[in-house]
Amino acid sequence: MRGLNLVGVLLLGPASLAAQGTVVTAVNSITPQDIIRRIGVIAHDSMRGRDTPSPGLDMTAEWIAREFEAMGLAAGGDAGSFIQRYPLRRTRFAVAASRIEVSGGRTLHFATDAARLRGRATGPNGVTGRTVVLRGTPARSDAFSGLNVRGAVVIAVTSPDSISRWLRPILAQQPAAVIFLTERSDRSWRSVTQGQLGTTLEKGWGGVQAQRGGPPIIEVRDAALAAALAANGFDVTAARSGTAPLGPGAGAGAVPLPGLALTIHLAFETVEELSVPNVVAVLEGSDPTLKHEYIVFSAHMDHVGIRRAIDGDSIYNGADDDASGTIAVVEAAEAFAILNPRPRRSLIFLLVSGEEKGLWGSEYFSEKPTVPIERIVANLNADMVGRNWRDTIVVIGKEHSDLGTTLNRVNQQHPELNMTAIDDIWPNQRFYFRSDHYNFARKGVPILFFFNGTHADYHRPSDEVDKIDGEKASRIVKLMFYLGLDIANADQRPVWNPDSYRQIVQGAGR
Ligand SMILES: [Zn+2]
Repeated sequence: MRGLNLVGVLLLGPASLAAQGTVVTAVNSITPQDIIRRIGVIAHDSMRGRDTPSPGLDMTAEWIAREFEAMGLAAGGDAGSFIQRYPLRRTRFAVAASRIEVSGGRTLHFATDAARLRGRATGPNGVTGRTVVLRGTPARSDAFSGLNVRGAVVIAVTSPDSISRWLRPILAQQPAAVIFLTERSDRSWRSVTQGQLGTTLEKGWGGVQAQRGGPPIIEVRDAALAAALAANGFDVTAARSGTAPLGPGAGAGAVPLPGLALTIHLAFETVEELSVPNVVAVLEGSDPTLKHEYIVFSAHMDHVGIRRAIDGDSIYNGADDDASGTIAVVEAAEAFAILNPRPRRSLIFLLVSGEEKGLWGSEYFSEKPTVPIERIVANLNADMVGRNWRDTIVVIGKEHSDLGTTLNRVNQQHPELNMTAIDDIWPNQRFYFRSDHYNFARKGVPILFFFNGTHADYHRPSDEVDKIDGEKASRIVKLMFYLGLDIANADQRPVWNPDSYRQIVQGAGR
């Protein structure tokens, strides 16, 4: 090995001397000091909590890109850069362009007659279904469970302060839309209609998110629909006074109104288009064939930004969530970049954004990968690896592919790490589906997810670098390095457990 390095020195000059080495040299480059220093950079108050989008997020991405460049890694992003940008947009409910058509010719207008509370399912012909009126005062949350309102436009006669209590049991019945009929003062109504005017940040690719937006949930003033309901034999005033006969259910009733049809047209407008970064770096493999296959190391560099102050601090630094995972990837990249010879397969070091918004960056990368997704043989994801137990790391997904067996073997080969990789101890929390690795899994890539669990500082301004255990994190990164090296040098790529493949990949509609 030394001889090889000397050749390298002669050819490449003295700067490369330190940057070439054996597995031991590479692993020794992963140090607690480096980890704490680097987490300190991106979890610093100056990064303002790395919200998606924000200048701090862009600064973080650019800093990581410079680190990768200095390590001699290849750029894997857009147009020869380390950055892959993906589009977002801010949209707003288009009040004037939206309406509810009522059979018989009347049209309800938003702001004056109706207010959109939530939901954005729409479509060229609007949202409609058979009309069912609910009334009564449900005493228990399951009061509606016996009512068949699936696919219906449900009108619920209620009071403004009952809406939140009614909503969940009604939505559980999967209606096409829910209209809450209420009485309010003009002043109270104005504040409800103001609530329609906020903007929503959403993904800017993959078409309108109509299907994911859920059924329209709309509040309508009594006066706007009372006449149409009366014409179909339903007296709103009587329903409110409780004098009308009740239908099925305990204290709640459902009345079908076959003669009344409502069609809801919701429109949305884009008020801003923007883009945010992922960072992508590549270390090319040394095997002429296997280098066309890739292992992705990933973590999310974004956090939740500036929010409500707690103890005078409003900057949510996200040192553990997920500066720790981000720096784990950077440290692993640095160790692999030192390694000579390089691993047989290629490695991708991916830092995504938008995780806290809904796994956006990893979704974009998995849908528009910079290498063919079939050639990504594994994803090792790290989210929160700097806190809690000193001797244990939970690794989620071990049972779904032979990566679990590989990890157990590699773990046993390195008792000096004093780090035991254990199985998912919170299966009920479904963490397998809750961080960026899931976007790889659903595309057919076997994954392992390194995760230390949450803590009292989770999603609070007190998730700060001074609480990170850099020494422990360094041993986790070393384990991930050894695991990645094993996968990269193996003759065969990892394989799914067939049952898991059916459930997770085919179930997601690969
Ligand atoms: Zn988080």
